Amino acid sequence: MRTIMHVDMDAFFAAVEVLDHPEYIGKPLIIGGRKDSPRGVVSTASYEARKFGVHSAMPIAKAALLCPDGIFIPGRMARYQEVSGQIHRIFPEFSPLVEPLSIDEAFLDMSGCEHFYPSLEEMGHSLKCRIKDQTGITASVGIAPNKFLAKLASDWQKPDGLLVLRPQDIQGFLHDLPVGKLWGVGQKSEAVLHRLNLRYVRDILPHSLTWLQENVGSALGSQIYYLSRGIDERPVASETEAQSIGHEITFAEDRKSLSFLRQQLAQMGEKVGWRLREQGFYARTVSIKVRFYDFKTITRSHTLNYSFNDDDTIFREALHLLEQIKLQPVRLLGVTVSNFSAGAQLSLFATDDQPSSQVNELMDAINRKFQPGAITKGRTLPTDESSS
Ligand SMILES: [Mg+2]
Repeated sequence: MRTIMHVDMDAFFAAVEVLDHPEYIGKPLIIGGRKDSPRGVVSTASYEARKFGVHSAMPIAKAALLCPDGIFIPGRMARYQEVSGQIHRIFPEFSPLVEPLSIDEAFLDMSGCEHFYPSLEEMGHSLKCRIKDQTGITASVGIAPNKFLAKLASDWQKPDGLLVLRPQDIQGFLHDLPVGKLWGVGQKSEAVLHRLNLRYVRDILPHSLTWLQENVGSALGSQIYYLSRGIDERPVASETEAQSIGHEITFAEDRKSLSFLRQQLAQMGEKVGWRLREQGFYARTVSIKVRFYDFKTITRSHTLNYSFNDDDTIFREALHLLEQIKLQPVRLLGVTVSNFSAGAQLSLFATDDQPSSQVNELMDAINRKFQPGAITKGRTLPTDESSS
């Protein structure tokens, strides 16, 4: 049986605002627009604001009527992403199999990791503590045998919640659950189910799979049949194979100098590495794309037998690929990394990698504080040869 942990930050944007503005503690905060913003929509409401009936996706104008003394903030996405990056970088410490769901949410497949903890409760608690220590804000955690139940469990005792659902708890837990809480049942499907007098999970249980499929459609019928029994086989999927992060640049004039192209690769490698680390991923494949003066375009890639997220590896591999190409004047150059995992499968020579990853951490910290590109490695600076 699997052990899945779902982590969800509590009123995330509002929590970050409180973190940065202690004077907001205990106040109703509404993120999404200024109070007089005519078209704004609430993206997050603090728990204090929710007491006034304010919730996400509500027009700001309505929130302003419900909660006239609330503090209305347009929101600072860059800052939320920064804290999100800190949180997502914690997850690989707990499991090699992480599925990031959103800016403040993830599934962790903890199967086989349980024995590192005295109990499942302790396991959830240690993740909550780690996030609190690192960022100063609280998360809710649900632990269950599958994704569907783990997500329900994290939601159950929000904020700062922790709920472990064991197999013997599942039936009782689901019995009185409204059908709208079943994964994949949106407002439309909910209305269909209500018309059949299926309002709670307990109303679904007496019906056969065939009956449900005939009455609500094949896909939805089988979905609610299994979910209402607590069955969900979806795996925790770390990033899909298709995903990649890349940068490319088209030059104002065709370039042939290897030292110039090398410097461009270094710059793009740092940008790609930065984004990779900000998203908490590791990659195994580096690709380059080269378009020549005659528009002939070639790509070359190399897959390593370990995962990386450091600029050095990206640059070294990209340069190696470029050096194998017979150079003609180049009009476009690109670097891409792909083949992601959410955690590191370190190289056998992990000690060799350490200094480089420490340098990356330091550079990222500085870049985060100022702006991406504030600090770069010497090799990205124009050399005499290439700038001439
Ligand atoms: Mg959340």
